Amino acid sequence: ADPLVIIGAGQAASQLMASLAQDGFQGEICLVGDEPHLPYQRPPLSKKFLAGELALDRLYVKPAAFYEKAGSRLLLGQRAERIDRAGRAVLLADGSRLPYSTLVLATGSRPRELPLPGAFYLRNIADVDAIRGQLAPGKSLVVIGGGYIGLELAAVAMKLGVAVTVLEQAPRLMARGVGPVVSQFYARLHGEEGVVIRTGAMVRGLDGKRVVCEGAQYDADIVVVGAGAVPNVELAREAGLAVEDGIVIDAQCRTDDASIYAIGDCASQHHDLAGRRLRLESVHNALEQARIAAAAICGRKPPAVQVPWFWTDQYDVKMQMAGLSAGHDLAVVRGDAERGRSFAVFYLREGTLIAVDAINRAPEFMMSKQLIAERAKIDPARLGDEGVAMKDMRN
Ligand code: FAD
Repeated sequence: ADPLVIIGAGQAASQLMASLAQDGFQGEICLVGDEPHLPYQRPPLSKKFLAGELALDRLYVKPAAFYEKAGSRLLLGQRAERIDRAGRAVLLADGSRLPYSTLVLATGSRPRELPLPGAFYLRNIADVDAIRGQLAPGKSLVVIGGGYIGLELAAVAMKLGVAVTVLEQAPRLMARGVGPVVSQFYARLHGEEGVVIRTGAMVRGLDGKRVVCEGAQYDADIVVVGAGAVPNVELAREAGLAVEDGIVIDAQCRTDDASIYAIGDCASQHHDLAGRRLRLESVHNALEQARIAAAAICGRKPPAVQVPWFWTDQYDVKMQMAGLSAGHDLAVVRGDAERGRSFAVFYLREGTLIAVDAINRAPEFMMSKQLIAERAKIDPARLGDEGVAMKDMRN
């Protein structure tokens, strides 16, 4: 039989191979990736790896031996150019043709590019190598985009003695991911650490080493753009698969072609918690969809769906987020969000807990994950009362 082919050798692909092995998959697997690396973790790219506190080999999800097992083939530094659905084959950049029995698209996403020649982006190891060389004491950095990747970069650069300015066009930081209380906290945090934050900043262009905004200009030795990501869906779209922002998949991660699956950043799936289809860019989502797809491919019972979660590390602050806060009608703060660096914000819809942003608050995060999964209705006054322990929240 033809092999199972995976396009994209990232976090989702690596977990898929691990889960297929666990689920007893017997066929041949061929993994095609356009980067010259074994699958690696991206979160450290804007955190410890960028800071030089983590060695390259610690990024890899699994050692090389894991992929070299009998029955699997690794084609790295190879780009898939086209899917021939009728002929059930993938066409590679070197002109070769790779027949498949089952195809899994795990192509991830890429940075949204802005028309700013000379600006850097932060997505892969090569990007970090390019940026890190410029982060020296006394240098200046302008980060365009106040999302979590831009802010993590700002935090690392500050530690390295770089003067940092963050330009965000929205009225607040991380606006897509968190509520206003949390945005205000991060503006304060970065201010306390010495970062200049400008919200409502409309970048018009890059003039050499000068970032030109409406009504202001900022000189920079290096400019890095962190303006969100776009999914790598071109292969799927050209093959005629349904795409709505991401590649449309069902509950089993199958596309509208029964022999093609999609997982990770590139896929769009219905989420009960949100009540609609959406695309999540997180490690948890990549791992979860990989497990679901593996079970479906092997004809096994699907694993239980978990509450989505995410984290970001900036300075000494770890934020852990669970659930999906979009559509909440009430936000409850537990702890002091205006001073200090430890509090949580709970998001409720019609009395049901749907999400939490926990800032240096592991117990709030852990307990909320369970309560969100249970669709628990909780008295907001108790959530906000530090006298009520998290473990007693159900009562
Ligand atoms: P990826 O890991 O991006 O892998 C996709 C791979 O497919 C890439 O190597 C790509 O080059 C390759 N590819 C694409 N098209 C082709 C083709 N045609 N042929 C061959 N290969 C192809 N998530 C968190 O949960 N927490 C965090 O703190 C966090 N921090 C992050 C920090 C940074 C700087 C970045 C960039 C991401 C971060 N993420 C974080 C997001 C997380 O890394 C992604 O959600 C995750 O990597 C998605 O896995 P994936 O396998 O879908 O995609």
